[in-house]
Amino acid sequence: MDLHSYIRDVPDFPKPGIVFKDITPMLSDPHALRASIDQLCERISRAKVDRIVGIESRGFIFGVPVAVQLGIGFTPMRKPKKLPWKTRSVEYDLEYGKDTLEIHEDGVRADENVAIVDDLLATGGTMKAATVLVQGLGAHVAGCFFVVELGFLAGRERLAGHHCDALIKFA
Ligand code: AMP
Repeated sequence: MDLHSYIRDVPDFPKPGIVFKDITPMLSDPHALRASIDQLCERISRAKVDRIVGIESRGFIFGVPVAVQLGIGFTPMRKPKKLPWKTRSVEYDLEYGKDTLEIHEDGVRADENVAIVDDLLATGGTMKAATVLVQGLGAHVAGCFFVVELGFLAGRERLAGHHCDALIKFA
């Protein structure tokens, strides 16, 4: 099933000049929703992973059902001060300013094979930060998986050395 037509372009959101890729039409359609999870599972299962790490917040929407379907655990990676236990943090650059991601210290185990899931690859800064956190805990990043990739922003180059895969690519 081709999922391109379920992604809605919203110009000038959240600020002028940005074309936001809205996944809610895909989530709303039961066949497209099921296809998105099945297609992610098919690709991630090839990477032979022990765990899914999902990036807040849209990475949770896809990461949890994939983990359930593959019979493995899920670990949330969150914005600062949301996780209750001991955390590791990494700060990363946004187009304007900085942001931070956090993970529990026991969120991944050393030597585990981890797939990191997010809804969209733009410049790759968010996913790069996620890989640094996972590797900092001694785990192996088996792959970075997305529903949508904005190819013109060259996020893959920022993730050089990591296996990257996306269901829907916009050149
Ligand atoms: P980046 O770090 O530049 O790769 O940005 C990826 C993160 O920002 C993802 O978590 C996306 O949900 C969000 N994001 C960035 N650009 C867009 C966009 N054009 N449409 C929807 N989400 C976006």
